[in-house]
Amino acid sequence: MLGHLFQCDPDIRLAGSEIYFDPAEPRKIGIISHGHADHIGRHEHFIATAPTAAFLRTRNGFDLRGTELPFRQPHAVDRSWSVELFPAGHVLGSAMIRVSGPRGSLAYTGDFRLAPSYTAEAAEVPQADAVIMESTYGSGPEWTFPSREELRDQLTTLVRRIVDRGRTAVLLAYSLGKAQETAAMLRDRDVKLVMHPVVAQISGIYESNGIDLGAYEVWGRQSSLFGHPSTLDLRGKAVIVPPHMTREIGRIRNAETIALTGWALRGTRDADHGIPLSDHADFGELVSLAERSRAGIVYVTHGSRRFAEELRRRGIRAEFLRGKPQMRLF
Ligand SMILES: [Zn+2]
Repeated sequence: MLGHLFQCDPDIRLAGSEIYFDPAEPRKIGIISHGHADHIGRHEHFIATAPTAAFLRTRNGFDLRGTELPFRQPHAVDRSWSVELFPAGHVLGSAMIRVSGPRGSLAYTGDFRLAPSYTAEAAEVPQADAVIMESTYGSGPEWTFPSREELRDQLTTLVRRIVDRGRTAVLLAYSLGKAQETAAMLRDRDVKLVMHPVVAQISGIYESNGIDLGAYEVWGRQSSLFGHPSTLDLRGKAVIVPPHMTREIGRIRNAETIALTGWALRGTRDADHGIPLSDHADFGELVSLAERSRAGIVYVTHGSRRFAEELRRRGIRAEFLRGKPQMRLF
């Protein structure tokens, strides 16, 4: 148990309430920061932005009930608490959550990125008495990502080099967020793009929210690539496939794989190439959030104890809350 505002056992909830942040177990009220699998669940009642609700229902069932809350609109919960959502810049609809009540205010960042994105809303840092923040890339300043323009040029040059040799560029990108960011980066870049149906389903939600992903083909389930292993000709094209679909990826002929992950800054073992495209904050952005929140105390989660130590060196009161196994390629 930590702090007078919240408890961590290990799901995080407001102290003395049934209001949870991104709980892993089904709960009475779950405030969901964004649509990634490790943040969603089947709760009696969810609170989330409309795009996150669409991802949640697509993945966990259209019967799920909850409140779709626009950004910056206070919403009363359980009489004594008010919830507000702020854009987190991580994926479409991702939110940082602030709850305010008689005992003070608490912000919970979920996953976030302060640097601009092609497909996610620009992040806004909420101010609160206490902050619980992720710290995925918090181990040191060696985790500093190139600008999105630089990454776009790197990606375009690499994809063109592969397709110009008559090969297939296989872009290994998580189906929600990274895949759409990749498509938007290749928009108007004279690259023939194909999406796996799982990616295309999520892309449809992006497009219905006004995000232009450019032109692309979708593999139907009847296609020879994912139906039976014959001869769909993908040479000269770029294909976006989630990285865990190793069986399908193995069937693509003349493939050269590109991993799109922040971890690629340290090299790439699981693909032919790597582009350090991350939807998380880098080290400098993490420090920036802690400072801009003006919180009296910062609780660090989803990363290493070293980031809490780093904040203390900078004069910010900080504690390490809990670690979490990293999911590769997020
Ligand atoms: Zn995430």
